[in-house]
Amino acid sequence: MSITNIFLTITSILLILTPIRPLKVYTAPTHINHAPPPGGYHVETKLRMDDIAENIKDIITTVDTPSEGKINLQKITSPYPSCPSLWSSVHSSEYLSHLSTHRGGLDSDTYISPHTYAHLPYAQTSWLSSCTSALLGQGPSLSVTRPPGHHATRCGGMGFCLVNFAAAAAKGINDKDVRDHFGASGLGSGSVKVGILDIDVHFGNGIEDILAGEDGYAYCSIHQAGIYPGNSGSDARAENIRKVGLTQGTEGEEWGREVMIGLEWLKGQGMDVLIVACGYDGLEGDPLGGFALTPGDFRTVARDITRGFKGGEFTAWGVEGGYKTGEGGIGEAVRETIEGIMEGVEGGREGKGEEGGITC
Ligand SMILES: [Zn+2]
Repeated sequence: MSITNIFLTITSILLILTPIRPLKVYTAPTHINHAPPPGGYHVETKLRMDDIAENIKDIITTVDTPSEGKINLQKITSPYPSCPSLWSSVHSSEYLSHLSTHRGGLDSDTYISPHTYAHLPYAQTSWLSSCTSALLGQGPSLSVTRPPGHHATRCGGMGFCLVNFAAAAAKGINDKDVRDHFGASGLGSGSVKVGILDIDVHFGNGIEDILAGEDGYAYCSIHQAGIYPGNSGSDARAENIRKVGLTQGTEGEEWGREVMIGLEWLKGQGMDVLIVACGYDGLEGDPLGGFALTPGDFRTVARDITRGFKGGEFTAWGVEGGYKTGEGGIGEAVRETIEGIMEGVEGGREGKGEEGGITC
């Protein structure tokens, strides 16, 4: 048993004995500097984050003003300094060079505004903070950032996505420099297995492209078949990839069932840490998706995932897509997700003796 797995096993035992720790939420306010060209219409804007903030403002507090019963929100004010190096583990040097210098449209719907590149390390740091917190068994965590990332392939951005934050965070969990920076040095240098469960309505082709065939990583996507990015059926590229394409109009019960089957598949791969790439464009009425989900469906799924994977202690959530705001939109659904996670933590701990331990 490696030092890493001994640490994780001890952590799991201690978590059974200690009080419930609240969900941590991370965000990168610099997202406002990533803005579409003036005058043009785009669905991926700061309004998505505004809608989330409005819907969770009464249940969160900042880490500087802790409040009983509220959830800590940590704003990322300084980025992890080695993001470009970390990104080289998931993107080609040619693409990263282009990303650092290009301004304007990357393709017809993916933009890079003048200050976008400066913002991306802050968003990545939000994801890394969430994932290293999960790695340390400090309770479930959620990264609320934009733009989404799961379409960004090894060689290029697409579909509003510029950097594949989820894949980079998955790699970062096993990166010594990342562990040192985020206070996880005590884990040693041993590898942990990381699973990504993608519940965005679109298939995360970028995550598949980056992680297909990679030892120690597994990816499962539950998405709508036949829409963007095109290769969204069930033709997985490698044994560590599971793709499930559902039909237009899919409702919460079927969706939730497939998500949980996907979670069981990931558990069968022996994952130590779970990242949920949580897209909200499956909500009914989203301009880019065709599912018929409600915000309450996200509460149910968040609760069940949390209960189903180590009581939520080793689970990091991150916002991907989701473009419907207002009634029945992303803000309401993120709030439901948070409340579902908290329900799952409380329920999950009751059965934690069977689920909580990590062994090698
Ligand atoms: Zn999407």
